[in-house]
Amino acid sequence: MNIHEHQAKDLFKEYNIPVSNGSVAFSKKEIEQSVKEVPGPIWVVKAQIHAGGRGKGGGVKVVSSSDEAINSAENMFGMNLITPQTGKKGKIVNRVYIENGSDIEKELYLSCLVDRATSKIAFIVSKMGGMDIEAVAKDTPNEITTVIIEPSSGVVDTDVEKMNKALDLDENLSKQFSDLVKNLYRFFVEKDASLLEINPLIITKDQKLLCLDAKVNFDDNSLFRHPEIEELRDPNEEDQHEKE
Ligand code: ADP
Ligand code: MG
Repeated sequence: MNIHEHQAKDLFKEYNIPVSNGSVAFSKKEIEQSVKEVPGPIWVVKAQIHAGGRGKGGGVKVVSSSDEAINSAENMFGMNLITPQTGKKGKIVNRVYIENGSDIEKELYLSCLVDRATSKIAFIVSKMGGMDIEAVAKDTPNEITTVIIEPSSGVVDTDVEKMNKALDLDENLSKQFSDLVKNLYRFFVEKDASLLEINPLIITKDQKLLCLDAKVNFDDNSLFRHPEIEELRDPNEEDQHEKE
């Protein structure tokens, strides 16, 4: 089962995984209130659909006034968003997330999944953040680093060091990164996630790591253990999926 970015970010907060502050609007009427809850001076208006590549299809707008944020959000509501990941038919936008804009110094890539070959949890990281990772894997495979986690020990320092090295992080950032990886791993295991993709994971101008995007999938067979996740199901998305 997939969930929306805003739901994933709410779950991340419970695990001390750094995300921006934001507010979701479920209808046009809620937009003004949502925009008010985000202090600015930069607002980012993000269409909530179960597909990535939204930036390329007009589903992510960065604006610098609350009026523009309201305007962009109103225009996004109900639109049929076509991205490289939606298929030709696109997806109708039924909710919009408004979040704080960040000053980005660098965009990185991080994902966590169950490695098919070993059935162990693996982290994949790359300095090539914000791009289509499959294209990166094909064109520049050296830019991608996979670290497999031993289930008996969990994330250990040498795992983090390998990823740190691949991402070229300085001492301050590597401390933040170590906490991030451990919290993500705990989240992945405790919630029975099957995929977690943060693209981009950013370094802000003031040297903080932040998960700017969040794609999370859960193992359907484990949902009976997680009523709090089952509750996040969006039937609108699943109907659209079936029609494709
Ligand atoms: P998608 O992957 O669906 O295109 P993202 O959330 O990754 O959506 O956003 C696309 C791009 O928009 C990011 O790579 C980033 O450059 C920019 N962006 C997204 N959220 C923010 C934010 N809160 N502040 C600043 N820029 C953002
Ligand atoms: Mg993204």
